[in-house]
Amino acid sequence: MQVTNPATGEVLAELKADTPESLAATYELARAFQPVWAERPIAERIEAIRKFRAHVLYRYDELASILTSETGKPITQSRNELNGLIPRLDWFLDHVEATVDDDVALLDDGSGLEEVISHEPLGVVANISAWNYPYFVGSNVFVPALLTGNAVLYKPSELAALTGQAIAEMLWGSGVPEEVFGLVLGDGAIGAALVDLPVDGVFFTGSYATGKAIATAAAGRMIPVQLELGGKDPVYVCDDVDISAAAASLADGAFYNAGQSCCSVERIYVHRSIADAFVDEFVANVDAFVVGDPAEDATYVGPLTRPSQLDVLDAQVADAVAKGATVRTGGGRVEGTSGPWFAPTVLTGVTSDMAVMRDESFGPIIGIQAVAGDDEALDLMNDTEYGLTAGVYAADEPRATELLDRVDTGSVYWNCCDRVSPRLPWSGRGHSGIGSTLSRSGILAFTRPKAWHLRQP
Ligand code: NAD
Repeated sequence: MQVTNPATGEVLAELKADTPESLAATYELARAFQPVWAERPIAERIEAIRKFRAHVLYRYDELASILTSETGKPITQSRNELNGLIPRLDWFLDHVEATVDDDVALLDDGSGLEEVISHEPLGVVANISAWNYPYFVGSNVFVPALLTGNAVLYKPSELAALTGQAIAEMLWGSGVPEEVFGLVLGDGAIGAALVDLPVDGVFFTGSYATGKAIATAAAGRMIPVQLELGGKDPVYVCDDVDISAAAASLADGAFYNAGQSCCSVERIYVHRSIADAFVDEFVANVDAFVVGDPAEDATYVGPLTRPSQLDVLDAQVADAVAKGATVRTGGGRVEGTSGPWFAPTVLTGVTSDMAVMRDESFGPIIGIQAVAGDDEALDLMNDTEYGLTAGVYAADEPRATELLDRVDTGSVYWNCCDRVSPRLPWSGRGHSGIGSTLSRSGILAFTRPKAWHLRQP
């Protein structure tokens, strides 16, 4: 299995991919050791994740370079991902104990009856991960899973395998036994083989197509299958905003990590009365982004991690232009590059029958559509099979919250976008997935409740 730098084409490493046989052996060890791990006091598991946190800080620069070299993520954004990981770890460390403590539902008040809820680990869980934010999407699963006493079979994306390997090394070096955190390397075929093992839960982050295949493969086994999938996240810009601030914020939300975020802004609707001014400001922001070598601190947009996505973006531009859209900036490959660089692209005059406004782009491209008012914006925002996030930029809070109340997504944003918080559940609706990570829900997801009915003799 080769790991390649998308910016240079250089082969960074040759790794030994798992086979169905090696995978089965990893699974057997996890199955055997999980009860031992679960019986350890929770304080020991918390201590192990605390040490993992220390390893991340100790290897910070090296980890950021690895992530940039294998995904093409600009180096400042790789550092940001590690910076964001620390408060997530802290949130889990601070809240896991209280979340999984037994709940006394009915206190024995002299009747002799008590009712208690305890939280038991699921057992051995599969954690199949995307490449775009490997520290975030991985730790959302393996951290609470390990803390609550599960064994984890972790399959990083084949496009972020070196980061996956580093994560495993750091966990093993922190007191999580290798048997309890099994590293599974390989592509989609080994991911499918992992889902076919008799695991007790599948926690997946990736595309809708793969999520659907996983849900289908696991159907009938009566195990939790949690899916964090793609999005076509809309934002509506009302006519009362600070145009310059909204344009700057949304350009960042659409083009950060070259638009390769599940919650990237993928569609913008803007009130017709400010549309021209907004588009001018937006394009000025986009044109100011430094596109180039992801290893350079100044770079804001690097190459695409998955080179084949270039064809998807080319097709979206061609489809939009054929149907009457205007390319305001970008529109194709970055001049002078032979690698997977797509120029930050802004399309106007778009309509909802264009692929760029319907299908996940997952790249540095955005369509901006002028709308007559709030009702049209709301209809268009909800006109999608996805349901991850939606945002409204408005000075008037009640106007924004009333719209957001009627939007069918797991997260809603007022005057912000492309944002995830460990304190809040991260969940998609429709083709964006099932279940939640983060928040207390994202800890309990790795446990099964047991209801205790206790009557004194
Ligand atoms: P992907 O679906 O191609 O791959 C994800 C993982 O699944 C990889 O590890 C891959 O090897 C594995 N896989 C592929 N086929 C499989 C199969 N049949 N069975 C089991 N595993 C299989 O997705 P990707 O390209 O890595 O990630 C991009 C997608 O992830 C985008 O759609 C993005 O929106 C989504 N995403 C969602 C979230 C979220 O929180 N909702 C976060 C990050 C990324």
